[in-house]
Amino acid sequence: MRYLVLTDIHANLEALDAVLADARVRGYAKTLVLGDLVGYGADPNAVVERVRALAPAAIVRGNHDKVACGLEQADGFNTVAKSAARWTLDVLTPEYRQWLAALPEGPIDVDDTVQICHGSPFDEDAYIFDELDAVRALKVATRPLCLFGHTHYPMTFELSAETFDSAGPATAGEAQLELKPGSKYLVNPGSVGQPRDGDPRAAYAIVDTDHRSVELIRLKYSIEDAQSKVIRAGLPEVLAQRLAIGR
Ligand code: ZN
Repeated sequence: MRYLVLTDIHANLEALDAVLADARVRGYAKTLVLGDLVGYGADPNAVVERVRALAPAAIVRGNHDKVACGLEQADGFNTVAKSAARWTLDVLTPEYRQWLAALPEGPIDVDDTVQICHGSPFDEDAYIFDELDAVRALKVATRPLCLFGHTHYPMTFELSAETFDSAGPATAGEAQLELKPGSKYLVNPGSVGQPRDGDPRAAYAIVDTDHRSVELIRLKYSIEDAQSKVIRAGLPEVLAQRLAIGR
């Protein structure tokens, strides 16, 4: 099975459309979505519409989805995230708000190889940044490949019977990973709509369970268009600025 893996789209329609066009050329059969469809960007309704049309084989909610649909308060958010969440709650159609509110909590076992979650398999809102977090996650992961998002950093951790390796942020962009038998992997494809690893290009992944491979892909998109929509929507300007620097 070839899966298109999307996470942290954050209402960035320009980035999502570029990724979908690129993925169509590469080919995939099913889609997995790891949460944070909305929040920060100017197109929450259009992004929800696109994702629904993809009919994902599995999808989990993110922390921004929970706040944007009123399921949770924005208590843990900073001022900018809070004001974006309030804006998103206002503009989302009632239908899409309900759809977001009904998204399941992770983790979800997709098949014999793949498990998905938003933050981590032990807590949907936890951040996995370092090896300590990663080991904890890998120990509770129920499948050889656990896909996660939330940090907006493309990252790969491998746990084999003997060693533990961590490949840091894939700043070079594209990476190809072969899944070795007996090892467990924790992979973050990076964020479609708001990368934070210093590379402003959209990030996504294609997982091929037959070939036991993971492709981490970076893609240029029209950042200027996404930025001007953020400004025109009256969202905090810093949300437009950060798209250009990938922070
Ligand atoms: Zn996010």
